[in-house]
Amino acid sequence: MFPGSEIYGGLANSWDYGPLGVELKNNIKAAWWKKFVLQRDDMVGLDAALIMNPKVWENSGHLENFSDPLVECKKCHHRFREDQLQEKKCPDCGGELLPAKQFNLMLKTFLGPVEDENAVVYLRPETAQAIFVDFKNVLQTSRKKLPFGIAQIGKAFRNEITPGNFIFRTREFEQMEIEYFVKPEDWQKAFEMWRQEMWSWMTDILGLKKENIFENDIAPGELAHYSKKTIDFEYKYPFGQKELYGMAYRTDFDLKRHYSEPPYEDADTKEKIYPHVIEPSLGVDRSFLAVLLDAYSEDGDRIILKLKPGLAPYKVAVSCIKKNDEKLVGKAKEIYQNLKKDFPSDFDNRGNIGKFYYSQDEIGTPYCVTVDFQTLEDNTVTIRHRDTASQERVQIEDLKNNISLR
Ligand code: ATP
Repeated sequence: MFPGSEIYGGLANSWDYGPLGVELKNNIKAAWWKKFVLQRDDMVGLDAALIMNPKVWENSGHLENFSDPLVECKKCHHRFREDQLQEKKCPDCGGELLPAKQFNLMLKTFLGPVEDENAVVYLRPETAQAIFVDFKNVLQTSRKKLPFGIAQIGKAFRNEITPGNFIFRTREFEQMEIEYFVKPEDWQKAFEMWRQEMWSWMTDILGLKKENIFENDIAPGELAHYSKKTIDFEYKYPFGQKELYGMAYRTDFDLKRHYSEPPYEDADTKEKIYPHVIEPSLGVDRSFLAVLLDAYSEDGDRIILKLKPGLAPYKVAVSCIKKNDEKLVGKAKEIYQNLKKDFPSDFDNRGNIGKFYYSQDEIGTPYCVTVDFQTLEDNTVTIRHRDTASQERVQIEDLKNNISLR
């Protein structure tokens, strides 16, 4: 990852995903979509516009409530989120703090050439609202019956008072959100089902260690304005145990705000209802951060990124033992081109096998294939496994069968 706008001195707390970063990030998003949309019968997807009619944010309660308590130090004028401070004195200079003001986190801009009040729009602070606003359209076109959910991945913007800790808290970030609609009496069952699904996502798909994840049942007095129950899934980051994801029971709060008539009709009873909602809300960037932290390991002077093979930017890399031997290089390239048709692959032509293995370990490539002189005689290659450094000799034609992405 690179600091955003680096050659211009950067832009505070903005980060760019580089060539390998974007692959890891895309793999995380694709794995989420596969698990929660493609592999389920009760889920459909959505990709809605990022700038919405401002009435959405009025009715959702964001214009009124989507704010953090901002305090300013009388002496050094540094600003902080009051709810994140341990003491009532400025953490930077010990000065006295002014009374807190509510600071709305939505980023404003103007749509069209005239910058007046009527042109004010907001960059969405979450992907969730579009799902509620499009609920009826999705219902009519997908013909889903309760319980069912709508998923969306996309950018969100928040004018955070204290961004920081690398990509943990930024003003521009990406979310993967699900709104799961149920009959009101079924919310507890659905909440428990999604709680299990979140664990399965974090441990089986992202490969995070169980002992680094904690559930925090939010106390009733601290719940967001729309929620009757929320669990935060927290992760043990090097800078402290903090939120990774949130999961909320949003009742029928949002649908009631957006629809004057109940938007769902029960096919059997013909009763019209406002479905209730369970919302698993995940940050892409925080997923990325937790995956990197959890996968990082050292073995002597070897750095190994023990990524789940499904998430690794490259699944396999190919090299040969001599960089100037035309026959060897040609053979290695041929194998690489063939693997590349099925797996994201890398080619290393430095002719130094030790360095080849070390550098692929460091970026998390689960398999390395090496071509040597024996290859030219019997069509076998060495395949090396990242985590164990163990090696086997296999036929070139069997290579693809030896690559498992689980
Ligand atoms: P926090 O308490 O850390 O401000 P939140 O409770 O406001 O977070 P939600 O509104 O529940 O966050 O957003 C859902 C998810 O989106 C979070 O769990 C997190 O993964 C991600 N997220 C929220 N804000 C940010 C941000 N500023 N930068 C990166 N990711 C974020």
